[in-house]
Amino acid sequence: MSDMQNYDVVVVGGGPAGSTVGGLLAKAGHRVLILERERFPRYHIGESLVTGMTPLMEELGLVEELDRRFQHKSGISLRWGSDPQPWRSDFSSTGSIYGHAWHVTRSEFDQLMLDNARSMGATVVEEAHVSEVTGADTGTVTGLVYTHGGQQHRVTSRFVVDASGQARVVSRKVTETQWQDDLRNVAVWGYYDTYTPIENGDDILCEAIEGGGWMWGIPLGKDKLSMGYVLPAERMAKAVREGLSQREVFLQGLAASNIAKTMVDPSDTSADMKTARDWSHLSDTFYGRGWVAVGDAAAFIDPLFSSGVWLGTSGAWLAARSLDKALRSPADEQQALKQFDSVYRQLFKDILTYVRFFMDPTRLREEYMERAQEITQMYTQSSRVGFIALISGIGAVADLVDFDPMGMDGLREVIMERTEQAKARAEAEAAATA
Ligand SMILES: Cc1cc2nc3c(=O)[nH]c(=O)nc-3n(C[C@H](O)[C@H](O)[C@H](O)COP(=O)(O)OP(=O)(O)OC[C@H]3O[C@@H](n4cnc5c(N)ncnc54)[C@H](O)[C@@H]3O)c2cc1C
Repeated sequence: MSDMQNYDVVVVGGGPAGSTVGGLLAKAGHRVLILERERFPRYHIGESLVTGMTPLMEELGLVEELDRRFQHKSGISLRWGSDPQPWRSDFSSTGSIYGHAWHVTRSEFDQLMLDNARSMGATVVEEAHVSEVTGADTGTVTGLVYTHGGQQHRVTSRFVVDASGQARVVSRKVTETQWQDDLRNVAVWGYYDTYTPIENGDDILCEAIEGGGWMWGIPLGKDKLSMGYVLPAERMAKAVREGLSQREVFLQGLAASNIAKTMVDPSDTSADMKTARDWSHLSDTFYGRGWVAVGDAAAFIDPLFSSGVWLGTSGAWLAARSLDKALRSPADEQQALKQFDSVYRQLFKDILTYVRFFMDPTRLREEYMERAQEITQMYTQSSRVGFIALISGIGAVADLVDFDPMGMDGLREVIMERTEQAKARAEAEAAATA
């Protein structure tokens, strides 16, 4: 063991959630260390973003850079439900000022976010592998042990933030997680250099596959398409037992599709196939004595609506404000962290409830939209506004922007006012198109 360091906050993981919480806390004047196992840029899946992230990207000063570097995303094109006609939903139809999101190459996006955390004042150590969570067995986390440059280091801190993604380095030791058995899926995907765009070429394509599962098509640029097939884990296990390769499983999905198969040439084998477990889960608690969890380390919901990075960074934004409060005023710690857990949990629950409803591909389009409208509680005349408000995260923007770690004072009024404004805009738009 080489040295003993001390920080206000140590973050495990430099992905989008870790760099957000670490950067914001450093900017607020706290001493922050981010420990990242890999050297960036490193590959990651999760390439399609939603407009609900844009207020945070504004706060981080990254919108112009994202616009400059990455493919714009206007909405979602679907072939889903009992009606075989394709349909689409456009981000701009929420009436929000955020009309587009981005499709990103994650190695570049994550590097941008981590560099930004550095420039906000966080100390970042890459190739630092966290191996021990100090105090986890006593119920109070007090620090970490990590390996870097062949040496073990010990660090203590007031708070440890688990942003280690699916590794759940801290949360697996200090809380239980509820695996959602009906959403136990596997994804298999690859990248195509040549492809034919769909009609609305900068949308994500989500297409239900007959017999179960769905496919995504994400245009990362003119010469790069990410295409994946999500299917139940037991079906993948059966295919493997039968000796099928990952590519063969992917091609089965492609052959059963209607739109995805028009985009790529199935005989193009230049794309290496990748696979990952895609099993939704939700931790029993997102905080405890000395620790907080954000991003996939807290919960993960099926990527059907591309909500992972939005959920992760939103939780990190909430956590930064609650931890800032707790560090400045220790007497308020419990309330601030409880408020973080409650607002953050609601985001996950809304998306989980809706993914579960949407996974049944036999419903009518209007049923999908009405259910989304019920969840967002946006009482507009147009249920399609409720749908896109939910899946883009725009419906939750007021909860995020005006988050008050000390409670609900004033928040309800702000939400009601913004809901009224959104309602008026959507009704004006519906009247204009009628
Ligand atoms: C098939 C699939 C498709 C997806 N598609 C989308 C999509 O289109 N859009 C979207 O928004 N989301 C998508 N997601 C979800 C998205 O990938 C995640 O939600 C997102 O990356 C979570 O960010 P994070 O910062 O929590 O974790 P991560 O991005 O995973 O970052 C965690 C970091 O922690 C580091 N780490 C782990 N263990 C240690 C350790 N012991 N010591 C130090 N560091 C450590 C890792 O190296 C990593 O860099 C998809 C997920 C899957 C599985």
